[in-house]
Amino acid sequence: MPAEKLLLFDIDGTLIDTEGAGLYSLAEGFFNAFPEFQGKPFPALDLGGATDGSVVAFLFESFGIEDHEEHRTRFFAAYSVALEEKLGRFEREGKGRLLEGVPSLLEELRGGDHPYHIALLTGNTCEGAGIKLRHYGIDHHFSFGAYGDDHPDRNALGPVALKRAEEVHGLGLSPENVVIIGDTPKDIACARAFGARVIAVATGGSSEQDLRDCAPDFLLSSLSDTAAVIAALAQVFTQGET
Ligand SMILES: [Mg+2]
Repeated sequence: MPAEKLLLFDIDGTLIDTEGAGLYSLAEGFFNAFPEFQGKPFPALDLGGATDGSVVAFLFESFGIEDHEEHRTRFFAAYSVALEEKLGRFEREGKGRLLEGVPSLLEELRGGDHPYHIALLTGNTCEGAGIKLRHYGIDHHFSFGAYGDDHPDRNALGPVALKRAEEVHGLGLSPENVVIIGDTPKDIACARAFGARVIAVATGGSSEQDLRDCAPDFLLSSLSDTAAVIAALAQVFTQGET
């Protein structure tokens, strides 16, 4: 039996494309939580690879709102309500989707004869991640994750994921037995920050060239070909082994 491995999936642009439902929900949630700012312009957000924890810090700074627990709780509660509603509405309008190949890949990774455990490493809050994955029917594949409300800096989330792997599954994994699968340069940086391997997938906001420039261990145009992803994983974990 080969050594156990952990695959940490990003969500937006990697597993799903909400086609903007997340961004709209951040804005709607914000104005519902802090109605005194309604009518003011909502600042442009660079969401690719960002954590929701860092986004809320940026919003509070932009609007001059004191950043403390009660305000954060109020914001994220309103965001979650908006997100549920928005995902449903977008679906009725034919917007938002699971990315191609994702359901079959997840089925294969969990059901096939592989040494892989799968979990999440995402900038979404734990609750936001659950809402999105439940909406698209893939939440049951993931028993734990590291989230954007664990730490505002994505680069701090790898060690959080390793700690949860130990708590939830008793997995004492070293970082070289972990691969992050994500769609932005920030996913690649996050893997490098704790010594994990990384597969970049060009189904989000970053082009193949932008991702290649960040030197991931493997680059895929999409996750549509399950066999190709399985082969990429095998290669990535073999690289550097002696
Ligand atoms: Mg992403």
